[in-house]
Amino acid sequence: MSAPPAPSVPPVPRYRPYRADCPWCGSRRLRARPRREEPRQGEPGRSVLERCADCRLGFRNPPVPAEAGHAALRAGVRLRHALAARAMLRHCPEPESWLDVGTGDADFPLAARAHFPYTSFDGLDATHRVLRARAVERVEEAFVGRLTDPHIASRLRARYDVVSLFQYLESVPDPRAELRAAVRVLRPGGHLLVGVADPRRILPAHPVGLAAELVAQGCTVLGGARGQRVVARRDWSAA
Ligand SMILES: [Zn+2]
Repeated sequence: MSAPPAPSVPPVPRYRPYRADCPWCGSRRLRARPRREEPRQGEPGRSVLERCADCRLGFRNPPVPAEAGHAALRAGVRLRHALAARAMLRHCPEPESWLDVGTGDADFPLAARAHFPYTSFDGLDATHRVLRARAVERVEEAFVGRLTDPHIASRLRARYDVVSLFQYLESVPDPRAELRAAVRVLRPGGHLLVGVADPRRILPAHPVGLAAELVAQGCTVLGGARGQRVVARRDWSAA
């Protein structure tokens, strides 16, 4: 008797529809995009990093889940991960607990461990890749879903010393809600690390808008507001 076929997981659609409004503020004054050709059958359209003329924040349009690119891109990602981990080392040298959001295969926790050997890394991702990452011990705990899912938000509330998000806010439908949820899973005084713009399309205004958003959500911006990553601390007074 043959073994039953392995259960198949339906594929996540790679590209969602374009949106005409800013996911941060609802404005329809988006930076003019270059006109693109209709994608051929079976070939997805390109996702671009778009900027809102009103709030100056950026997002991927259409939103696309972050995923592994080709080899050169992956090397660039590894370098940025190492630099980001070192940047956090200056602000928070000995965190006990760290949640990497949108972690995928947990490449960032793997890279950061070289700098934080005593830190417990957990991972959250919308896909089941994070379960595989736990199986190979890249993360200790794995959560499938979004920070804004009520069962995840309540379980993780004020739990982490550090929360990191790389290329995550650009790819979710409601980045403000996700950012607020990220602040809430930090303990007061905990640190947030946000990796922002696509390095191939530097948008200097984008992190500035992000910094203002972090201040509005009860954080102090410690650095990187003009670069490709922002480090912030949740204020002690934050509810
Ligand atoms: Zn906007």
